[in-house]
Amino acid sequence: MILAPYPEIDDLLMLMGEAGRRLSEIDASEGSAGNISVYAGWPLEPRSRFPLMEQIELPQAVPELAGSSFFVTGSGRRLREIIEEPTANVGCLVVEEGGRSARLYTSYHRLFQHLTSEFNSHLAVHYDQIKLSGTNFQTVIHAQPPYLTYLSHIRRYEDEKYLNQHLLRWQPETIVQLPEGIGFISFKLPGSPALMEATVQKLRQHRIVIWAKHGVMSRSDVSVKRASDRVEYAETAARYEYLNLTTGEQGQGLTPEEICAICEAFGVEQTVF
Ligand SMILES: [Zn+2]
Repeated sequence: MILAPYPEIDDLLMLMGEAGRRLSEIDASEGSAGNISVYAGWPLEPRSRFPLMEQIELPQAVPELAGSSFFVTGSGRRLREIIEEPTANVGCLVVEEGGRSARLYTSYHRLFQHLTSEFNSHLAVHYDQIKLSGTNFQTVIHAQPPYLTYLSHIRRYEDEKYLNQHLLRWQPETIVQLPEGIGFISFKLPGSPALMEATVQKLRQHRIVIWAKHGVMSRSDVSVKRASDRVEYAETAARYEYLNLTTGEQGQGLTPEEICAICEAFGVEQTVF
């Protein structure tokens, strides 16, 4: 939830650009991998930045969100290039009355035909979270960070307790940033209803979830960059874990007692240790 004065369209596009650039810097969005969506629950006038308009069917009906806006990356676009020309890479959806359709506003410079094919998962997560918390703002990011994704190929990390107790032991701030740990979803077809449903469920308990053998999805109702930071924190943890595996597991990591002491000192309610 964010309070007025609300960010302008250009501010949101700039933050999407900065998040996209950072995800690219940490190798979490090779080629055109990854996508970002931002929900803004206050009235916006997109036509000055996005003069073209067409009507599209939404992947699911979201009647309560009529009049709200989403900024969504285009299919095949590169996250690292959003910052150079945001309107070429992002479209703005305004949900119509009834919530079954939306007006898609785009620029004359747009470099995509359709919005990201993962938009069904993005919209389902937004809708679920908005209904649960009443937030007026939310960012959802899908990225493909290599260390997290690699670990998701190793069977023992499929167990969420094992995964989190191993990944969240390398730096004090990891438990502070991810107090509910990282969710894990076994491999599902990209863009499928099964992946969408599992993601909605897991993102109720976690702020970031691994899509096994594929990547991650994270959310934040505070800022665009908070959602990309979560990808970075989880990926850094996975990188430490990978380092430890490659050096014959010489590292001890923070002990559960040390982590619990950190949580007590910083008032963190965690569910991992
Ligand atoms: Zn992907």
